[in-house]
Amino acid sequence: MLLLLLSMTISPDINGQQRFPMPEFESGYEYPDVSTPEPRSLTLEYIDVIVLLAMLSVTSWLVIKKRSRRYILWLSVGALLYFGFWKNGCVCSVGSVQNMVLSLSDSSYAVSYAIIAFFTLPLLFSLGFGRVFCASVCPLGVIQDLVIVKPVKVPVWVRKSLGMFPFVYLALAVLYAATGTDFIICRYDPFVGIFRMGAEFHLIVLGIAFLLIGMFVARPYCRFVCPFGALLKITSLFSKHHMSITPAQCIKCKLCKDSCPFDAIEQPTPDKAVSELKGKTGKFILYAAIIPLLMFVGGWALSSSHVFLAKAHPDVYLAHLLIEQPEVMNDLDNLDVQTFLGSDRTLDSLVQDAETVQAGFYTGAWLTGAFIGLVAGFFLVSQYIIRRRTDYEPHRGDCYSCGRCFKYCPVEK
Ligand code: SF4
Ligand code: SF4
Repeated sequence: MLLLLLSMTISPDINGQQRFPMPEFESGYEYPDVSTPEPRSLTLEYIDVIVLLAMLSVTSWLVIKKRSRRYILWLSVGALLYFGFWKNGCVCSVGSVQNMVLSLSDSSYAVSYAIIAFFTLPLLFSLGFGRVFCASVCPLGVIQDLVIVKPVKVPVWVRKSLGMFPFVYLALAVLYAATGTDFIICRYDPFVGIFRMGAEFHLIVLGIAFLLIGMFVARPYCRFVCPFGALLKITSLFSKHHMSITPAQCIKCKLCKDSCPFDAIEQPTPDKAVSELKGKTGKFILYAAIIPLLMFVGGWALSSSHVFLAKAHPDVYLAHLLIEQPEVMNDLDNLDVQTFLGSDRTLDSLVQDAETVQAGFYTGAWLTGAFIGLVAGFFLVSQYIIRRRTDYEPHRGDCYSCGRCFKYCPVEK
């Protein structure tokens, strides 16, 4: 119902955009690459959402009921071809966070119902069934999953430390989207160049590097970069029907222990660990108490850099350039400057707009820094929290529901 209401309010804007195709210039001018998606035809958007919904539903059934790694794998190949290579990786759920944020912060930015669906459906399914979206629907995840050759174990401290980065990246992506500066998740998406069979050289190199590393460190982008994965990690912790390694009772044979390439299988909690933790209550209280301090320090540190951060915004960049190097006005090759000089904007109005953006960055950087401080605080505190487990279980936040561990369980056979 919510999707329907939102689509009724926003679709006219999108339709209007689609009625007037972009003009072609006789001068041979070519439109620059943009990181925000072009609107697709409504029919294609309907089809995309139906395919997404169908794939999420089928994957959930395959993971929870059918318990078939083979079918999950075939479905994931289909998703890679459809959402990756045919749709050119756009619009995808991973980047949709930014569209949602920009539409909330800028009333003139229309977001289509398809983007809303791409953002909400994977999160809703994760609340029901875990990260089934990551299992076989996300093209970014699937392309990495298919190249895993000989996964190595990543030391716990490295895994936990790097595991904070997706939250930091998410916070920065929200800041840049909310200020209308850029969609950094899309701009630095390492796989979109592979899906489109062409991109800037450094992005192709980045994509290939991720795939090469991914042969040994399984799904490096998913585990240590993906900001949407950070959201899915949280929602999946509360999933109602998460996959289980064994179809019935765990007999603690340990055969599944090393079967997960993502180190997402948790062992039964040793009694020793519980008693050791009891002696560390003081540290737990100390770290919990300093969370507000970490939030303040994070907010203060990032807000101190707001002028630097804001320079990524085109207006702020141009205002700084024109004030600090006025001679660029004579540079006929500088397209940004010449476009500005040819427009009816004055330097004063540009500076005023830049100041407004900078003020937005100041507030946004405080909130972003405080969020990063909060994440760091939770990371510290989580070292002193353990959940008593009597069986071998997947970690609900880290498990991608790939189904690899099914075949290791003798109870399954
Ligand atoms: S973690 Fe991110 S990139 Fe990986 S499968 Fe999930 S949504 Fe896709
Ligand atoms: S289903 Fe989860 S626990 Fe099992 S191998 Fe895949 S990611 Fe690991």
